[in-house]
Amino acid sequence: MTLSEWIQQHPFLTKIAGLQGRVDATAAAFLSAPIAPPAWDAYAADHASGVPLLHATHVAIDLAPAATLVRSLAADVASAPVPPGLARDAGELVADLAAPDAAPDAAARAIAWVVRGEGSAPARHGGLLVFLGWAALRRTLEPVKDAYRAWSGAQAWRQPYCPTCGAPPVLAQLVPEGAGRARILCCGPCGTTWAWKRIACPHCGNEAQDRLDVLEVDGEEGLRLDTCRSCNGYVKTITREPVEPFLLADWTTLHLDALAKERGLERRGSSLYDM
Ligand SMILES: [Zn+2]
Ligand SMILES: [Zn+2]
Repeated sequence: MTLSEWIQQHPFLTKIAGLQGRVDATAAAFLSAPIAPPAWDAYAADHASGVPLLHATHVAIDLAPAATLVRSLAADVASAPVPPGLARDAGELVADLAAPDAAPDAAARAIAWVVRGEGSAPARHGGLLVFLGWAALRRTLEPVKDAYRAWSGAQAWRQPYCPTCGAPPVLAQLVPEGAGRARILCCGPCGTTWAWKRIACPHCGNEAQDRLDVLEVDGEEGLRLDTCRSCNGYVKTITREPVEPFLLADWTTLHLDALAKERGLERRGSSLYDM
């Protein structure tokens, strides 16, 4: 199935698909010198003790390209055929990130807040900044994430949160492994994937099988919610093979989050989308 077929079958995704597609396309066209990967030896101790790369103490990832790109993304949304309220908010965000009377590093500080919660939250449009900020970060961090994956291949990340940004997972994918299946967790904000325990709740660590349930979703073959009675959380889980890559983007299964909410479950994964 293609993404456009998926959206035809799920028309409530049409609006978010339009915005997401535009933002992703603008980001994909952004050209800058690739960010140099850090000295992995200097990060190894942090990695072993569960400190995500973007929170490392001895290496710093260059976030300046993301600060440049987030301004471009906001400017593009401000002039795009989107709902007037969104265009206005994006225009105000552009002003806040680049106004002559703003501090010269306003965009850099905004990205530091998005990534690490540094400094104070913006006075307005924090949600839009987070959405566009992570779109900029996903794009500009691609070479670093590729190098990180290559380096960390032999060094297991044993945590239930994202090895790149530290966010709790929104999604999981079950993949064949030997005679059984392994579980890959997916980060909503930065898009990193990593292997983790097959049976356990990544939100609270519960491994008691009688407190873990599966909620199948009517009409959605190969998609389900893995739920936890200890913390009332859930993970959207993809069991179909092969999986269409677009399903690994959180927004394409927002109706599963709506279903979870209806059932009284709590969204504990880190999502960029309000429900
Ligand atoms: Zn992440
Ligand atoms: Zn739990």
